Amino acid sequence: MSGHVKLFIPGPTEVSEKTFRAFCTPMIGHRGSDFKALYGEIQPKLQNLFGTKRPVFLSTSSAWGIMEGAIRNLVPIGGKVLCCMCGAFSDKWFDVSRRCGREAIGLQVEWGKPILPDEVQKVLSSDNFDAMTLIHNETSCGLRNPLWDIAEVMKKFPKVMFIVDTVSSFSTQWIPMDELGIDVMLTGSQKALALPPGLALFAVSERAMERATKVEGRGYYFDFLEFAKNAEQNMTPSTPSISHIFALRSKLEEIENEGLEKRFQRHSKTNALVHEWVKQNGFGFFAQEGYRSVSLTCVENTRGIDVAAWVKRLRERHGLQIDGGYGKLKGKTFRISNMGDETEDSIRDLLAKLDDTLKN
Ligand SMILES: *Cc1c(COP(=O)(O)O)cnc(C)c1O
Repeated sequence: MSGHVKLFIPGPTEVSEKTFRAFCTPMIGHRGSDFKALYGEIQPKLQNLFGTKRPVFLSTSSAWGIMEGAIRNLVPIGGKVLCCMCGAFSDKWFDVSRRCGREAIGLQVEWGKPILPDEVQKVLSSDNFDAMTLIHNETSCGLRNPLWDIAEVMKKFPKVMFIVDTVSSFSTQWIPMDELGIDVMLTGSQKALALPPGLALFAVSERAMERATKVEGRGYYFDFLEFAKNAEQNMTPSTPSISHIFALRSKLEEIENEGLEKRFQRHSKTNALVHEWVKQNGFGFFAQEGYRSVSLTCVENTRGIDVAAWVKRLRERHGLQIDGGYGKLKGKTFRISNMGDETEDSIRDLLAKLDDTLKN
């Protein structure tokens, strides 16, 4: 791909030629036996990745479709949702909940700080909530929330639906939906799965499905009941992006061949390489120690370099793209993604080129 700039931004991530070839498989009808076979074939592999016995649904939308959909399906109009807020995406979920006409209460911490289980326990005990939203890996600040500990707290509040965004952590580490008692677990195609953007994947617990039957105003496009009804016949409610599903099948084969444990280790190792580089070069980490993401690194620009100029140099000289900081963190931070297909070699290559361009 001449003139192509390779992506090391935390989404969309770099898509391989192999994935693109699968994406370009000739079209099939979405109500025919070929499609049902395709859907049926990937289902057990998806359940394995989600750590669930529940069906895994495919939505032709970005992740936000399901983030909004989860609110519409599980929180009655006028009902109450607790939104754990620690960065740009989790803050926005609060806003989205309100736009859906639900009463959203925020558990806000400073960006870069984690949501702590004790705080969750305190707020949930103080009121009656229908649901709680949590972003496992807050991509804007490279922060990973203590999902396992929070999940323990949630087990004491069975009426509060536990909605978890794993968009930028999914398949980089073990997140067993059923064991953690997650009610809606959702992810998107363009992060660690390294597929083109445009597909969201999610699963819904049995009790959340029951809840949805009692909630009015679920709409149609993201109605969980529609997904469930169609999934029984290996179909989606409306015409899906079939190209994405071909690409997903190819990716799931790759994941199976690599092995889950190896895949997780690869992400830890490549992340550790980036962390080493950060320390060697005298930069800081934006996220609090102990709560740092393993799929991307949000680097604090403690050296006060001109991030925008550097990012541009890297792009022009080497055809590589890193991120110059999200929203209000632009220039104060920069982000390096190690999710998707990246290897120790490709990350070492990136880091060498970061060194090359850092000074001038
Ligand atoms: C990228 C991202 C999203 C948004 O995904 P879209 O595909 O743009 O809807 C949501 N949550 C997290 C944690 C993300 O990293």
